[in-house]
Amino acid sequence: MKKGLLIVLSGPSGVGKGTVCSVLRHRMPELIYSVSATTRAPREGEVDGVNYFFRSREQFQDMIVHDALLEYAEYVGNYYGTPRDFVEKTLASGKDIILEIEVQGALKVKEKFQEGVFIFLTPPSLDELKQRITGRGTETDELIDHRMNEAVREMNLMRHYDYAVVNDQIEAACSRIQSIVTAEHCRIERYLGETAKEAEAIRESMR
Ligand code: 5GP
Repeated sequence: MKKGLLIVLSGPSGVGKGTVCSVLRHRMPELIYSVSATTRAPREGEVDGVNYFFRSREQFQDMIVHDALLEYAEYVGNYYGTPRDFVEKTLASGKDIILEIEVQGALKVKEKFQEGVFIFLTPPSLDELKQRITGRGTETDELIDHRMNEAVREMNLMRHYDYAVVNDQIEAACSRIQSIVTAEHCRIERYLGETAKEAEAIRESMR
């Protein structure tokens, strides 16, 4: 059985990763989502185990010590990390999984999974991004500045990704991501190993 694709989606805070992911859930129901652990407090409407596993700093540090996280990063004063077991089991079962994580964590994943598909969602402009973060109404001025600084830093690291998708319109951005996933499934490397094995089996049966 072919392993599933590990898809990493990053992009600055406010670019619309959450919305893109929720549209993708409808358009690609076969895609599995990794639920991250975080020490940040839940926002209104967020549910433990659905949006995140909300954990205390002690609990999070315990996960780090027990190597239960594939990657983790500190972002705007809180820890965020990807539970390892779920990702590994999903890939082994042949299903694709998507991780919606920030850049430092994505780069750590890249060290371990060079075959991963790294997609960077960009805003049409930084001005537009600031309007989106401000418009969300969930952050203080200080936090907005902090998130904008992070955004600029993250955009500078875009070159480490395989694909850039501009989130000008949600549906169009989702179509581009779907096309990327389809193309990645068709990569020749995913078939060469199998073809070589099949050729060997045919040769064996002819001996
Ligand atoms: P938010 O607090 O807005 O939900 O997320 C803040 C940032 O943390 C976002 O850029 C989000 O993609 C990122 N993030 C969410 N989960 C993880 C994770 O498991 N690992 C890392 N490295 N970043 C994450």
